[in-house]
Amino acid sequence: MNFPIAIFYHSLKWQHKYLGTDFSEKYFFDCDYRINAVMNYHKKIFEIFGDIGLGQEKPQPEPVIDCCGGILGKAVFGIPVVFHKDSPPDTMALNITDTQMRTFELAGDFQERFPFRDFRLQAEQMKNTYGEILPTYDIYHHGVVNLGLEIRGNELMLDGFTRPEELKVFFNSLGDGILKLAEAAHKIFGKPPFYKLGHCSMSMFSPDFYRQFVLDVDAKLAQCLKPFGMHHHGRTDNGHLDAYKELESKSGVPIEFFDLDWNADISYFRGLFPQTHLFYIMEYNFLANANYMEFCQKIEEIQEKNKNNKTITFIASDLDDGISESSIRDLANAINTVTGRNDFA
Ligand SMILES: [Zn+2]
Repeated sequence: MNFPIAIFYHSLKWQHKYLGTDFSEKYFFDCDYRINAVMNYHKKIFEIFGDIGLGQEKPQPEPVIDCCGGILGKAVFGIPVVFHKDSPPDTMALNITDTQMRTFELAGDFQERFPFRDFRLQAEQMKNTYGEILPTYDIYHHGVVNLGLEIRGNELMLDGFTRPEELKVFFNSLGDGILKLAEAAHKIFGKPPFYKLGHCSMSMFSPDFYRQFVLDVDAKLAQCLKPFGMHHHGRTDNGHLDAYKELESKSGVPIEFFDLDWNADISYFRGLFPQTHLFYIMEYNFLANANYMEFCQKIEEIQEKNKNNKTITFIASDLDDGISESSIRDLANAINTVTGRNDFA
């Protein structure tokens, strides 16, 4: 599998402002509206950045479910979703009680409820119109800590101290829910090319918390969701990387893909995971302020720490109109010069 260098230039805010795209519920649940909006977007990007290989001159319809960073993966557990015209949907914490936590599980009839039911109907409609749907992978985005924080709320920060055994049961139940969702989703949306388990919130917890409460659940998930990848957002210290390495030995499953934040120690990462495809998430402030030479220097430095390993994808995402067109151009040219690659997407 070859991965392009991904630059998600324009945020939903930008698309709303310049293309009038409405990201309320209708964007996610009305496939005709969305497919059309996505084609307009590719076309617009081609007009601006076609010369550096971004965008599409004649975009084709893409019949794919858009779970927008995993709203399905969260909402299916009953987490309330709030939609916005010009930004990604938000979720609100359920704040379940100690008693509710003891018996919390994914609803048995989740396939007949919002939002799974609605996505399923949409998949049927797309199959009828386009003959097929493309597989989507962001359904399964969230690991048990991401979900746990939204379901239990801030109490989760204390549960490891105050009710450790109950917390293990709770996380186990969430892990079972993730697998049930994945199995049901395969049947309808197709098997994704790879999985990335979202641990955006893990940096708020210690590596030992991961070992004590999450590792066993992740091992089970890794064995079922292959090829398996990890998404770690926020501060990454080497202790977290050590803990994720233990997941490999515990599960017997290699972590084939890894999303890593800007502050992470790439040399250390490569020492532990020489074969893993690294998706390196570039920092917003750096993107907004660096010039071409600074981009070149930084990419060279990253390449060196990455031991010139080819399995790296630079990701510039969640950008908004604070990032200028010339910055994107400079970044693309710098990556091109330093790595000899020009397969942007
Ligand atoms: Zn994240």
